[in-house]
Amino acid sequence: MNPIALLSVDAALAEILARMEALPPRRVAIDEALGLVLGSDIRSSENLPPFPNSAMDGFAVRAADVASATRETPVRLKVLADAPAGSVLHCEVTSGTSVRIMTGAELPPGTEAVVPVEHTRSTPLEVEIHRPVRTGGNLRMAGEDVHAGETILTQGMTVRPAEIGLLAAIGCTQVCVLPAPRVGVMTTGTELVGAEQRPGPGQIRDANIHALCAQIKAVGALAIGFPRVPDRREAVTAAIRETLDTCDVVLTNGGVSAGDYDFMKETLERLGAVQVFCQVNQKPGRPLVFWMLQGKPIFSLPGNPVAAMVCFELYVRPALRKMLGQPLLFRPRVEAALAEDYRKGEQDRRTHFLRVQARCEASGWVATSTGPQGSGILSSMTRANAIAVIPEAAGDLKAGAIVSLHLTDLPEDH
Ligand code: AMP
Ligand code: MG
Repeated sequence: MNPIALLSVDAALAEILARMEALPPRRVAIDEALGLVLGSDIRSSENLPPFPNSAMDGFAVRAADVASATRETPVRLKVLADAPAGSVLHCEVTSGTSVRIMTGAELPPGTEAVVPVEHTRSTPLEVEIHRPVRTGGNLRMAGEDVHAGETILTQGMTVRPAEIGLLAAIGCTQVCVLPAPRVGVMTTGTELVGAEQRPGPGQIRDANIHALCAQIKAVGALAIGFPRVPDRREAVTAAIRETLDTCDVVLTNGGVSAGDYDFMKETLERLGAVQVFCQVNQKPGRPLVFWMLQGKPIFSLPGNPVAAMVCFELYVRPALRKMLGQPLLFRPRVEAALAEDYRKGEQDRRTHFLRVQARCEASGWVATSTGPQGSGILSSMTRANAIAVIPEAAGDLKAGAIVSLHLTDLPEDH
C-alpha cells in the first residue's frame, strides 16, 4: 500500500480508528476490572439482600400493637431477645412483644415493622414505644435490590466502583472484560537522561516517557515504559523488537523528523512495518507516523513534548478507547470565542491546535491562550483545559472569532 503523504487531521484519525480492534475478552478479578468494558451480561443467581433484615437500629414489632403510641401515652412491649447483625433468632414476635434489633440483622419471624431506637425508651426487658410505624416500615425485603435470576449488568457497560461493589455483593468475584491493552513507550534521543539525573552539557531530561505513560494510564490502558534509546540504528532496532514482542500497541517517541540521526522510519520500514500514513497537516505534531506491524498498531510520535502529548490526546487516546471497547471516543466539543487575536499566517494551510483555557461565561464559551505555543513549551500545556482547533482553511483570526474546542479535562461524550 502506498502511504498517503500529509493527510488532513480527520483523515488521519479515520485511518487509525479503522485499524483499532478490541483484544479478545478475558476473565479478570473484579478488583482488576475498574474502567474496563464488560464482555458479557452478568446475571445474579442470588437475592440481594439474601434475607429480610432491619433497615434501622430499633425494635421489631407487630404494627397493630403500636398504632396508638405517642410520647405521652407510650405502648409498652416485652423485649424477647437481642438481634445483633449476623445473628439468627428463632423466637417469634407476637402481639405484646418485641425484639431489640440492629441494622442488617435478620428479621425474627412475625416482625411487621421496626420502630427506630430514637422513638423508644427501654430497659433490658421492656421497651416504651413513642410513635406508630406502618406495616413494612424500616424493613428491607429479600431480593428488593436484586432478585435471583435478574441480569444486573450488560455487555458493553463500563465497570465503575459501584459495579464492583454490586458484583462483590452477589458473590461474583471474576468478570469477563475487554482487557486493557499493554502500551509500550520507547523514547529516543542521545540527548536524553532520566528525570532523576542532572543533565550534562547538551543533555535534557526525558519528560516524555513520564507524560506519555501518564496519558496511557489516564485512558485506562497499561503503560509500559522501556529504557531510553540512543539515536543509533542497532539500538532503535533492538528496542522496537523488544517493545513489539511484549506489547499490544507501541508508541515510539522522537527521531521521526528529517534529521541525520532520525532512524525511526527507516528502522520500522526495515522491520516490515506497513506505513499507513506519514505526516499530518497540523501544527504541532506534523511528523506523526502511523504503522501496522504483526497486527499491532505503532504510533511514531514526534519528540517535542507538546507535539507528543497533543498527538496522544487527539489520535492515540481515541484509538485506545476503541481498543478498550468504549462506545464514546471523543472529548466534548464546544464552539468558543477567541479572547485574543491569533496570527496563524494567511498562507498557512495547516490545522493549528492551540493550548487554551476554556471557560463558560454568560455569553458562551471563551478560549484564552495559555501562553507561548511552541511545540516544546510544556508549561503552557499545564495551564490548558482545552485544545482549540484552527482549521486548515483559516488565516489570521481576530479576537471574538469562533473556534471549536476539545474540552480535554472532561470525559468523552460522543
Ligand atoms: P525529535 O523528534 O527527536 O527530533 O525531537 C524534537 C525535540 O524534542 C528535540 O528538541 C528533543 O530534544 C526533544 N525531545 C525528544 N524526545 C524528548 C523527550 N523524551 N523528552 C523531552 N524532550 C524530548
Ligand atoms: Mg531526537
